[in-house]
Amino acid sequence: MTKIAVYQVREEELPIVKKWSKDNNVEVKIIDGQITPQNIHLAKECDGVTTSQNTKVPTEVYEKLKEYGIKQIAQRSAGYDYYDLDAATKNNIIISNVPVYSPESIAEFAITQTLMLLRKVNKIEVKTKEGDFRWQPGIRGGLLGEMTVGVIGTGHIGRIVAKLFKGFGAKVIGYDLYPNDEATKYLEYKDSVEEVVKEADVVTLHVPATADNHHQFDYEMFKQFKPTAYFINDARGSIVDTEGLIQALDEGLIAGAALDTYENEGPYIPVDNRETGIDDKLFQRLLDHPKILFTPHIAHYTDVSVRNIMNIGLDSTLEVIKTGDTKNRVNKV
Ligand code: NAD
Repeated sequence: MTKIAVYQVREEELPIVKKWSKDNNVEVKIIDGQITPQNIHLAKECDGVTTSQNTKVPTEVYEKLKEYGIKQIAQRSAGYDYYDLDAATKNNIIISNVPVYSPESIAEFAITQTLMLLRKVNKIEVKTKEGDFRWQPGIRGGLLGEMTVGVIGTGHIGRIVAKLFKGFGAKVIGYDLYPNDEATKYLEYKDSVEEVVKEADVVTLHVPATADNHHQFDYEMFKQFKPTAYFINDARGSIVDTEGLIQALDEGLIAGAALDTYENEGPYIPVDNRETGIDDKLFQRLLDHPKILFTPHIAHYTDVSVRNIMNIGLDSTLEVIKTGDTKNRVNKV
């Protein structure tokens, strides 16, 4: 019987693994923790390996897998920066990822954040808990259907974001380095990010972090926003200069922001920080800011995503065992 080593499984994922194992008639060996040179021997009798790695996988691991006759590692996330792809290729190890697992989950979250900001849900909740049920301008909402939404990045996620906002009756405009036909069903492309932010009432980011867009959304960029505009970042923290954003909010250059990510979130997310606290002063200022709605990188975190990430990781592993390759391969072999 085919046997797969499954590293780093969270408790909530166990039923998904068990169901996949039964449906595919494949034995699974659950191994605690991520892959390391010290525990890779536990995969020895297996035909394939999958993990959810956020620590480096060193050369020794690929060499051992080759020695055991294992031909791949399936990473259960979109990012695969923890792998040494050259070392993997040298040892004929196929590295795969899960490129798309539920763009709808992130898109629906962007809508949720926007509506929370527009309808002042957090403020209303506080006032209501205090017993203050008055209607006052501070909690009066805006109507999405009357607004212009700017979508920056119109790939898998951005396209769905545009479609959903259009469904609310909003005018949707967008910018992408490589515009695509599908997105034009829902939005009108502009020639630059600046053109979008000048016109939009809501600006939502859905681009990957690259060397070119580090701190692209800085104080100078926020100066070009409408003072009534809201900013949503469900992409990557490094695209936003947090200092510049806080200054822009304090000076009233924009109205508010919902951020699912922060540029130096690494040590804090997803971790229970209740005992240890947050050492990072900039992060703490962001968390305390009354105009920022912060969430800990959970836009993707839905039932569907959790299920898809595990199933696609296991499917890719089996695909390599059966066919010698997978459509989700990220390195050359
Ligand atoms: P995708 O590759 O399908 O789409 C990205 C789009 O951005 C592409 O159309 C590309 O042409 C465009 N692009 C790239 N660089 C650009 C730039 N500098 N300016 C303008 N456009 C640019 O990716 P996706 O699946 O839609 O994901 C988008 C991003 O969302 C990911 O890279 C990731 O950072 C983020 N993400 C966040 C979460 C979360 O939970 N918060 C989960 C998944 C993905």
